[in-house]
Amino acid sequence: MTGLGFHTGPRPVARGASGFGTEAPVAISVVVPCFNEEESLPGLHARLTAVCRTLGLAYEIVLVDDGSRDGTWAEISARAETDPCLRGIRLARNHGHQLALTAGLAAARGGRVMMLDADLQDPPELLPDMMALMDEGYDVVYGRRTRREGESAFKKATASLFYRLINRLSDVEIPVDVGDFRLVNRRVLDAFLAMPERTRFVRGMFAWLGHRQIGLDYVRQPREAGETKYPLAKMVRFAGDALTGFSIAPLRLATLLAYVSLAVAAGLAFYVLSAHLAGQTLQGWTSILLAIAFFSGIQLLTLGIIGEYLGRLYVESKERPLFLVAETIGGETPARANTIERARA
Ligand code: UDP
Ligand code: MG
Repeated sequence: MTGLGFHTGPRPVARGASGFGTEAPVAISVVVPCFNEEESLPGLHARLTAVCRTLGLAYEIVLVDDGSRDGTWAEISARAETDPCLRGIRLARNHGHQLALTAGLAAARGGRVMMLDADLQDPPELLPDMMALMDEGYDVVYGRRTRREGESAFKKATASLFYRLINRLSDVEIPVDVGDFRLVNRRVLDAFLAMPERTRFVRGMFAWLGHRQIGLDYVRQPREAGETKYPLAKMVRFAGDALTGFSIAPLRLATLLAYVSLAVAAGLAFYVLSAHLAGQTLQGWTSILLAIAFFSGIQLLTLGIIGEYLGRLYVESKERPLFLVAETIGGETPARANTIERARA
């Protein structure tokens, strides 16, 4: 049974939502979201297969096609025809990295699940090291980037700033320089799948879940093929989702701004009244315009901040499914054992 039972709220991301019915026993699942990654897939498949085979356990590779417009699905289905350990899930449209990852995690059947990007920026060869740490009793082993290679100075600087900001503002401790490259066990994964939110900042959600977690340092490699699927606009949205999902500090900032504007208004009132009592006629329009600009600026900013939260609340309240699966392929992985422990026995 899964850990979904303890969830009391609505809409857990139920396992089996992918359309895969039978529960074939698998020790390790590797979940990879793919958006226009046809060039990355051959290298990804080869390196993942090589590393999974060294473990000597029943494994599956779950590739999620996130509404790609290139030959990604053709590539996935051709490979699933010949490799029984490979499964493909095609989403009905582009749902975005975090939801595509969630779709793959919901379909994963392994006792342990590793997630990584399709572009091989995170080396799959770290899987045995992650497994060894998990054998020591850790529930989550996450990759921590000590360096990033082959990425622009701008991306590195904004990423570094982002991780530090979200870590400071968030109510939970989100480790810095940690992406979605991690190995989790079934207990933690089921808890994650029971979290119903749709603006999913996956790395923050795993941090929120706690349990025994440990980082494994690695150097982030340049993309193997293709180009980044995170242009600036998507990066900004991602950061906004992370911030609103894990902190209400911006709402507090709105309150703080209200106090600031109140203090400025009090100062202005004092000045205006004393000038009036002294009988000075004021020229005035510069100060009036400045005051209008200042206070309306603060009001609009505050409204914008409230709007960011309200909009997300609205989207959540519709309770639409997180993602829609159009098609699946594969899934006849040879049965061995249901959990990692039994697989080892
Ligand atoms: N991705 C996705 N859907 C999207 C955008 C990206 O599934 O809408 C996948 C992409 O194929 C890759 C991972 O998310 O496997 C990370 O994207 P990318 O490598 O482009 O991000 P970067 O490493 O540049 O931040
Ligand atoms: Mg990448």
